[in-house]
Amino acid sequence: MTIHLDHDTAAPAASETAVGTTAAPVEDSADALGAARAELRDRLLADGVLLDLGSPGLYGRTGVFERVYSAVDAAAVRSQADLDAEVLRFPPVEPLASFERTDYIASFPDLAASISGFTGDDRTHRALLAARERGERWEGFLEPADLMLTPAVCHPVYGLVGDTVPEGGRSFDILGDSFRREPSLDPMRLQAFHMHEFVHIGTPASAKAHRDDRIPVMHALLESFGLEIDVVPANDPFFGRVGQMLARNQVEQALKFEFVTPVYGPGHDATAISSANLHEDHFGTAFGIRSADGGVAHSACIAFGLERITIALFAAHGTDPDEWPAAVRSALAL
Ligand code: 5GP
Ligand code: ZN
Repeated sequence: MTIHLDHDTAAPAASETAVGTTAAPVEDSADALGAARAELRDRLLADGVLLDLGSPGLYGRTGVFERVYSAVDAAAVRSQADLDAEVLRFPPVEPLASFERTDYIASFPDLAASISGFTGDDRTHRALLAARERGERWEGFLEPADLMLTPAVCHPVYGLVGDTVPEGGRSFDILGDSFRREPSLDPMRLQAFHMHEFVHIGTPASAKAHRDDRIPVMHALLESFGLEIDVVPANDPFFGRVGQMLARNQVEQALKFEFVTPVYGPGHDATAISSANLHEDHFGTAFGIRSADGGVAHSACIAFGLERITIALFAAHGTDPDEWPAAVRSALAL
């Protein structure tokens, strides 16, 4: 069985509130983590980096955020220039048909989100308005629109490369919106965020080389930002009991690595700000893609989590980039 890999493993939402356990130190540490998250969130809001949109994990962004975010993205792109990747951009929603082929709903039903629209007549509209007038929820009057919010920005590419990739494979530069339904007060966990991915589709060897060769480059780049980085084997938050098995499998096979940084200090789990994933033949099989030698294509992607890197920078160096260490500003060309 192949597994879909496109997720981070930062602490799940459930651990974000202090859950009472018998072991006092665990409770203390969960409390302390909650406090550290609230402190960072408050600071980002008070210093005018983020704007509270009134729903957990959704923020407006100000000029200072955009300045750093753009610099992070530009540095990420510079670091991958040798790939000479084909640039592709997609909307934040994908057709249900292509979403289906990724099998995402089997692995992450709790993170998926769909678009709905109103298709009713006047009578249904009147019923909707009456429900709204009574202060009731009215979204139930909308119908699924066969569109899903894109959870991982590389998804649309696999349906676009045809049935064969040429010798040497193809590499893509894909920046886009990602939506995952995980409301949280942790400013490192957004519902709507952006990833800049560099994807390769080719042979088993070229896909693995893509994933492996990019890791030291990403590591050096993130460290040049003055962040403490560990590269660790990781697993995705696969849903349910079967998911636990898939997650173990992912770690055992060393398919996914994450670049984690201790945003909340050494006493707490570090947060993934980027990842490097080997999908093996998951997408090649699902989308019917072959490599030049006739075998099922393998793929790999690396993903820079742009908001997470940006916020990790504010957490590490403060909310005024003009005050950041010269080496950090230089690495970011700020
Ligand atoms: P992955 O596909 O590995 O889960 O996600 C790729 C990258 O996107 C992660 O390494 C992380 O930087 C970023 N990312 C994943 N989930 C979230 C999230 O909830 N909020 C934010 N801001 N970034 C995320
Ligand atoms: Zn990907």
